[in-house]
Amino acid sequence: MECQAVQAQLSAWLDGELSEATGAILTAHLERCEACRSEWRELTALDAALGNLAAPAPMGLAEKVAAKVRRPRRRPGWQSAALAACLILGIALGGAVARSFYGAAPPNEAGAEVASLEVFQDFPQGSLGAVVASYQPEEGNGNLQ
Ligand SMILES: [Zn+2]
Repeated sequence: MECQAVQAQLSAWLDGELSEATGAILTAHLERCEACRSEWRELTALDAALGNLAAPAPMGLAEKVAAKVRRPRRRPGWQSAALAACLILGIALGGAVARSFYGAAPPNEAGAEVASLEVFQDFPQGSLGAVVASYQPEEGNGNLQ
């Protein structure tokens, strides 16, 4: 094997990418050729030195990261409008469903308050909550005799 062909394969051999047969040919060549042996020593020394280095960060990485962190991602205008429309629709639908469940409140203000409080009096039969909810202050203690 020519010196040029040997030196072209030294890096691949160092990385373990060559067959044992090719390795044996290269070893035999290095034993009798000082020029290729010198090339091999330089290559192994360089490989050892590079192996000790930490991988450097790409140029400008810190600046790019800092720029991304500082600049908040803005939602496109149509997404904000769609979000607002969904919110309004949800509130309107929620109100309509609540009205169909609990009925419309009476027109006067005091009646509306009583009607809205009755919503919370939906207790199971026989529970303490049902007893408390059914208590009428006007009938009071006088009827217990
Ligand atoms: Zn050689």
